[in-house]
Amino acid sequence: MDNTKVTVVGLGPMGRAMAAAYLDAGYEVTVWNRSAGKDTDLVARGARSAPGIAEAVAASPLVVLSLIDVEAMYGTLGDADLTGRVLANLSSDLPDKARAAARWAEERGAAYLTGGVNVPPAGIGREGSSIFISGPREAYEEHRAALDLLAATDYRGCDPGHAQLYYQLNMILFWTAYTGWYQAVAVARANGLTASDILPYAGYTADTLRGFYTESAALVDAGDHSGEDQRLTMCAASVEHILHTAADSGVDTAILAAHAELYRRGVEAGFGDESSSRLIQLLAAEEA
Ligand code: NDP
Repeated sequence: MDNTKVTVVGLGPMGRAMAAAYLDAGYEVTVWNRSAGKDTDLVARGARSAPGIAEAVAASPLVVLSLIDVEAMYGTLGDADLTGRVLANLSSDLPDKARAAARWAEERGAAYLTGGVNVPPAGIGREGSSIFISGPREAYEEHRAALDLLAATDYRGCDPGHAQLYYQLNMILFWTAYTGWYQAVAVARANGLTASDILPYAGYTADTLRGFYTESAALVDAGDHSGEDQRLTMCAASVEHILHTAADSGVDTAILAAHAELYRRGVEAGFGDESSSRLIQLLAAEEA
C-alpha cells in the first residue's frame, strides 16, 4: 500500500490547509470539492484535481474528509466504491453522527476514523496543534504518520464517537468562554471602553481558569463540594452583579440571565453553603 498518497475531499479553508500540508510534505495529493474553483492554488502547487468523487476515492488508500459536518459525507461520497479505503472524516459533528457514519462506511467495506481538529486552518502542520482521533486502532496506526502531519494525533480509542465527544467538550469550553468575551466587550463599549482596553484583564482571567479547572477537577472527582473559599451563595451574588451591570449598561442580558437563573436554582436547592460545583449535579440532573 502506498502511504504517500492522500485524497482530500472538501476544500473549505480547513481542507485547503490540509491538502497544502500534504503537498509541503511531498505527498501525492488528489483533491475534490463539491463546487468548482476551490482547488486552483493547490493544483498550481502539484495537486491532482479528480474529475469526480469516484476517481478521488480511488486515487489513495487514505481519504481525508473536511466538510461542513459529518452528514455531508453521505451525499458527497454517493456511490463511490469505498472498498479497502480508510476514511478519516475530520469534519465536526455529534458523537452519534460519527458512530452512524462509521457503520455506513464499514457496510461499504471502508474503515472509518473520526477526527476533531483542535486548531484553525492556520494551525495545520504547526507544532503544538492537536487533533482527536478515534476508530479502529489498526487503521489509525496504518495512517498515523499522515494524520500526525496535520496535527499531533491524540488517539481516544476505538469508539468512533469518542473523538467527537472530546472535541465537543472542548467546544463547550471554547464557545462559552468566547461568548463571554463578546459579552464583556459589549458591556465595555456601552461604557466607553474598547476591546483593547480590557484585553490585558481578559488575558489574565483566561490564564487563571486553568488553575480553577485543576483544583475543581480533583475535588469534583473526589465528591468534595465543601466549598470553603467559594460558597455558592457568594458566587450567585457575583453572577447577579454581572447581570445587573449589563442591564444598567443597556446591553442584552439573555446569556447572563441564564447564568443567574442556574445559580439561583442552586441556592434554592439548598446548596448555598457548599461549592458552586454542586451546579454540575443540577446541570446533569443527578441525584444529590
Ligand atoms: P467550510 O464551511 O468553509 O467548508 C466546508 C466544506 O464542506 C466545503 O468544501 C463545502 O463545499 C462542503 N460542504 C458544505 N455543505 C456541504 C454539503 N451539504 N454537501 C457536501 N459538501 C458540503 O468549513 P471549514 O473548511 O472551515 O471547516 C471544515 C470542517 O473543519 C468543519 O467541520 C469545521 O467544523 C471543522 N473545523 C474548522 C475549523 C476552522 O477554524 N475553520 C476549526 C476546527 C474544525 P462547497 O465549497 O461546495 O460549499
